[in-house]
Amino acid sequence: MGSFLPFALPDIGEEEINEVLETLKSGWLTTGPKTKQFEQDFVEFLGGQVKAIAVNSATAGLHLALEALGIQPGDEVITPTYTFTATAEVVRYLGADPILVDINPDTFNIDPNQIEKAITPRTKAIIPVHFGGLACEMATIMEIARHHGLKVVEDAAHAIPTTYQGRLVGNLDTDATVYSFYANKPIATGEGGMIVTPHQEIADRCRVMRLHGINRDVFDRYTSSKPSWYYEVIAPGFKYNMGDIAAALGIHQLKKAYMFQEKRRAIAEYYREQLADLPLLLPSFPPFGDLHAWHLYVIRLLKGDRAEFIAQMSAQGIGCSVHYIPLHIHPYWRDTYQLSPEDFPKALATYQQAVSLPIYTKMTRGDQDRVINTIREILIK
Ligand SMILES: *Cc1c(COP(=O)(O)O)cnc(C)c1O
Repeated sequence: MGSFLPFALPDIGEEEINEVLETLKSGWLTTGPKTKQFEQDFVEFLGGQVKAIAVNSATAGLHLALEALGIQPGDEVITPTYTFTATAEVVRYLGADPILVDINPDTFNIDPNQIEKAITPRTKAIIPVHFGGLACEMATIMEIARHHGLKVVEDAAHAIPTTYQGRLVGNLDTDATVYSFYANKPIATGEGGMIVTPHQEIADRCRVMRLHGINRDVFDRYTSSKPSWYYEVIAPGFKYNMGDIAAALGIHQLKKAYMFQEKRRAIAEYYREQLADLPLLLPSFPPFGDLHAWHLYVIRLLKGDRAEFIAQMSAQGIGCSVHYIPLHIHPYWRDTYQLSPEDFPKALATYQQAVSLPIYTKMTRGDQDRVINTIREILIK
């Protein structure tokens, strides 16, 4: 059956390894020059109009962005049920309530019509999730947000590089956009995240709150002309800063973001060609001219049992996964908000058929043929 073919695999090159070695030898391991450079590179990547704040995860970044926007107990924040729990848990960190809504099954993304229906006088913000790296319907979402005076924080954990109407996600004039560099994300630092925002005040608040509510960061304390021992605590902040070892990886991963996207796109296109005649729904491609980051390639099985299918793939040494078990089915969200599976029928039906196929930059045509042939054997018999 050959060696095990994973569902995802990071792509770390000599450049990353050398930068990490240099960082280790430099004596500066926490937030410092590499983190600063990674932030500057990120701003440049997005065209220079936003601020970037590096953090130790996207979860931390989402928490900080909502905190900076003043989300508090009693507030409601609208998110899709079809996401990872981090998107909604950060709302609970602030004592506010995530209001889950259903998706458009063609894109797996939040359905703007469902957003409108979920708005109440307590609604303060929307968190669209660019599922798998395909941009949400941002024009409609922004129109709804403007009309109702709501903030928008994009969960861009999957979405680099993703474009919407020709503009990169991160540059869409929302209040903040948050990326993840978790090990299996399109660019990876093991653990890590980035907040970008066009607003100076939001950036300043995130910067202070990512490091204990201290109004100058450690690197600044040791390099500025003010005495290094002096700092002021202006809020009960968090410990969310990115360290320089992760940033050293990020600097080179970011340079490769478009090259990685091109490889993932080619894999997605080959799957589309080769799986077209099978009893499956294949994922949507973006409108012509736009980029999909292809973090995930999620098929929907129209025949057979999903768990059985994944078990059979696994028996042939192929790793598959499921994205996502909708939040409203998980005990915590179900019980806290008294939700039942049928409350979000599109998300439920999508989940029951969804299988994430292997997709990663190092995947060869041979690897892909093995996945495709195995799927054929399972489905046509
Ligand atoms: C991975 C992920 C997160 C959390 O990212 P971390 O960097 O691991 O905190 C948030 N939202 C979505 C949709 C994700 O896939």
